[in-house]
Amino acid sequence: MEKKDVKSLNLKELECEIIELGYPKFRAKQIYEWLHKKNVNEFNQMTNISYKIQEELDGYFYITSLKIIKRLVSKFDNTVKYLYELSDGNFIESVLMKYKHGNSVCVSTQVGCKMGCTFCASTKAGFVRNLTPSEILEQIYAAGRDDGEKVSNVVLMGIGEPLDNYDNVVKFMELLSDENGFNLSLRHLSLSTCGMVDKIYELANLKLGLTLSISLHAPTDYIRSKTMPINQKWKIEEVIKACKYYAEHTKRRISFEYALIDGVNDGPKQAEELSRLLKGMLCHVNLIPVNQVKETDYRSSDRKSIFAFQKYLSDKGINATVRRTLGADINAACGQLRREQS
Ligand code: SAH
Repeated sequence: MEKKDVKSLNLKELECEIIELGYPKFRAKQIYEWLHKKNVNEFNQMTNISYKIQEELDGYFYITSLKIIKRLVSKFDNTVKYLYELSDGNFIESVLMKYKHGNSVCVSTQVGCKMGCTFCASTKAGFVRNLTPSEILEQIYAAGRDDGEKVSNVVLMGIGEPLDNYDNVVKFMELLSDENGFNLSLRHLSLSTCGMVDKIYELANLKLGLTLSISLHAPTDYIRSKTMPINQKWKIEEVIKACKYYAEHTKRRISFEYALIDGVNDGPKQAEELSRLLKGMLCHVNLIPVNQVKETDYRSSDRKSIFAFQKYLSDKGINATVRRTLGADINAACGQLRREQS
């Protein structure tokens, strides 16, 4: 019999399994708390469960854990990048960012990525598979365990396209926010997508309270189609329409990510086009000086162009900030994570 992934089960599902195995229902809550509150990864550490039952549980279930293969600390800002090995030998990366207001973990949702954005390292070695809910969760638990401090914010901005792994990502968010478990309010979670329109509608209808970030990176289809293949499937107009639906249904402000690439999307013309596109929307624009990726020769805009772009948007009443680059010396910044050792 194949063992079941116990950390991907919600409390109700675990109760059903436990009852089916002939144990009393309260055992499920005990196990669930060990896994999601006390962060234990072995049945033999669950001290309120007898040795005999621990052994039996070990025969039915496996507990997902990640092996830290590499741990790099930025000299500039204490950002930590983890390279993890999964149980099947694949690799993923996560990043722990330390801010005054708390710790934030940037997690991966897939092994590799199929979206093919030309500026992003995560897609360069192709796609292998989706991560399970427990593999996404464990990136947060492992970082908290390693660092010894509480994780207060989570961003789904690591390797992979979260909405391309929709069911597992939704399940992960359910587990992460469960008051019987880690209990993180989804107000403290941001999900970033390259613009999978059908799933944006589905997510909006769930009304989960998370922040939706859209990787926009261009104000026109002409520019966006050159850097982001997803734009051939869903044009900017359709993405914006879905964003408006999301904002209306959830009352949450959309965050647009815009990586400024020298000579590609960073001129006054694009600033003007972007301001027209976003006019009147409940939104925020995150300007990111594009980060270096070795397979591409994109260069970041210079400081003057970045601040001129920001000022243009602000003058038009569009809230825009320039994102501080963290962990650039350890390739831990936006778009630099990979599914292999770099
Ligand atoms: N697939 C999702 C999640 C990845 S999040 C998405 O596309 O949104 C990572 C963020 O970093 C995205 O906004 C992505 O577009 C951006 N990014 C990718 N490569 C980058 C680079 N070289 N410099 C700056 N940002 C980059």
